Amino acid sequence: MMLKILEIGDPILRQKARELSVEEILSPAIQQLIVDMKETMHKAPGTGLAAPQVGKALQLILIEDKKEYIQHLSAQQIAERHRIVVPFHVLINPKISIEESETAEFYEKCLSVPAWGIVPRAFAVRVECLNEKAEPCTIKAKGWYARVLQHEIDHLNGVLCLDRMRLETFTTVENYAKYWKK
Ligand code: ZN
Repeated sequence: MMLKILEIGDPILRQKARELSVEEILSPAIQQLIVDMKETMHKAPGTGLAAPQVGKALQLILIEDKKEYIQHLSAQQIAERHRIVVPFHVLINPKISIEESETAEFYEKCLSVPAWGIVPRAFAVRVECLNEKAEPCTIKAKGWYARVLQHEIDHLNGVLCLDRMRLETFTTVENYAKYWKK
């Protein structure tokens, strides 16, 4: 079932999401939420979706960076962004640490914030979390994947990309396509 994606201004997007217990993760309700969020993320489309974006203040994130999302970029853009295909996966109760404090600056957008702007992000991160089977996982990520992880984990703390944006680069979706996409 498609879920409604909340937009900036909705108070749930500013709440701190709570952790899920192993029992909750394995429950039919959360397993169904994951199915519904996956459908919603694909239809949007987006490379990531955090539970607060669909009105649930829970520490649950979905990520998938598909070939079809990447192939419209030039080879140079793909290389600069260190962007790779990331298979679908689920992160629950994630703990993030910065592996390389060197930052990368790229335009970023959020399904809950209909605008673009340059957001500095750490180049490499490490995340400890549980997956949808409540199994512990360690993720080490660089480049665009590290950016998506930071963006989505921010959602669990009530932080939006707008808060980290270089505001002088803030642009509407239309003007991004017109002036800045290339
Ligand atoms: Zn977002």
